[in-house]
Amino acid sequence: MRDIGTMSNTATTATTTANASSSDAAWYAASLAPMCATDPPIEYLPDDVPLYVCAKCGTHLALQDEIISKQFTGRDGKAYLFNTSINTDLGRREQRQFLTGLHTVADLLCRGCGTSVGWKYVRTPSADQRYKEGKFIMEVGMLHKVNNW
Ligand SMILES: [Zn+2]
Repeated sequence: MRDIGTMSNTATTATTTANASSSDAAWYAASLAPMCATDPPIEYLPDDVPLYVCAKCGTHLALQDEIISKQFTGRDGKAYLFNTSINTDLGRREQRQFLTGLHTVADLLCRGCGTSVGWKYVRTPSADQRYKEGKFIMEVGMLHKVNNW
């Protein structure tokens, strides 16, 4: 399905400039979309608003305006709680014990490259945690911020 040779050539030439690297990757992910008929298409957010993209492949994942809280911790450090996300798929549901109790969560996977970028809260244990249900945790280390003028 994917032409790995072409992809690594693109990545090698693009590493000279950081900006070109992520946009080339996004372009490449977009060019794949029509060939994967069973996958939902990759969506794009406007170019003129601050947003977060996958650090690995450049796929648009969330708007900065959708951040509910920056006071979260992921598996590998700081994480943000988002109201919405795009171009993500959910992994298997599982129970996870946090300081705030036992939660049901599902891994949040980037649709562009399949990397787990965080999780979605499916069920929370108590009323004071309910605001997190249906919301998305994304690890800061898995994101790049773009259009932040
Ligand atoms: Zn990705």
